[in-house]
Amino acid sequence: MKHIFILLTIFYSSTTFSQKAENIIIITTDGFRWQEIYKGMDSNIANNKKFNQDDSAYIFKKYWADDVVERRKKLMPFLWSVVEKNGQLYGNRDYQNKVNNANRYWFSYPGYNEIFTGYPDTAVNSNKYPPNPHSNLLEYINKQKGYQNKVAAFGAWDAFDRILNQERSKIPVYSAFDKTGGDNPTAAEKLINEMREDSYRPFDDEECLDVFTHYSAMNYLKTKKPKVLYISYGETDEWAHSGQYRDYLNAAHLVDKWIQDIWNYIQSDPAYKNKTALFVTVDHGRGDAKKEEWTSHNDKIKDSYQIWFAAMGPGIKAKGEVKDDQQLYQKQFAQTMANLLGMEFKAEHPVGEKIELNK
Ligand SMILES: [Zn+2]
Repeated sequence: MKHIFILLTIFYSSTTFSQKAENIIIITTDGFRWQEIYKGMDSNIANNKKFNQDDSAYIFKKYWADDVVERRKKLMPFLWSVVEKNGQLYGNRDYQNKVNNANRYWFSYPGYNEIFTGYPDTAVNSNKYPPNPHSNLLEYINKQKGYQNKVAAFGAWDAFDRILNQERSKIPVYSAFDKTGGDNPTAAEKLINEMREDSYRPFDDEECLDVFTHYSAMNYLKTKKPKVLYISYGETDEWAHSGQYRDYLNAAHLVDKWIQDIWNYIQSDPAYKNKTALFVTVDHGRGDAKKEEWTSHNDKIKDSYQIWFAAMGPGIKAKGEVKDDQQLYQKQFAQTMANLLGMEFKAEHPVGEKIELNK
């Protein structure tokens, strides 16, 4: 009992951050709905025979509670403990706290473009879009003093090479089945590379399972110590498209656990501790549960422009769930993240204005 108490004290005690962030970890989990973030498992979907993979007992046992606050915490326990306590969460539309795609497409490439360029260019209109002509926040940071060669991106989906324009931006982008470690991989890199190569490929060669992206990124974080690291998980979107609600929930639950692992590592390493910000969001939303449109998202699917984000760390006031009536946009994220590092993101295109997270 005493141990549990000590553990809880560590887990829930608030953290004192330094004034400005020196590092930032950016995380996305593709197309994960604000509805599940704020309300947990949706019983309309869980009870629907089309979607529950013939095993609603499993998800009800694992993720259900009658009370909404308890329920969302069962699904995303780290967000609804440490992040709620020390950071901020936006996008609960039940309080008119709205975060939207500014782009009009509501699918991935335009969404990630908007996050990293701050510019919802209507020309960026396809997931097959060629290498992004617009400069992005990661390459901007990579040119700043003290940040050269200290920026990296890991994405489950192979489109990140184009979205972040790896060739022009010169940022290492490890996407889908890319191997890490170059010509001289460490034993850990070699093992992860081999396991990824031989893994089950439900999404063909376009996207690997999140577990490989996560462990590659985590290994990079610990060994290369980047100052800016982007990790993009993809399974939440894939399982939703397949109508597999159990897998969708499990993927999100695992992402929450991985964010916790990343945060625990950061707070245990003097290079990062109390001077690293965390920014978590999505590329787009999804449709409504009752209309059975939760599986999909695009400009024909109502409400799939509705997104959310969470942030924690230096320069971010501990406000928890933000319940103010307000309208924010994805195009503001790039300047917001730059601001956390004390920078102003300058580009050849317009950039959405920053969101003040320090008040
Ligand atoms: Zn999708």
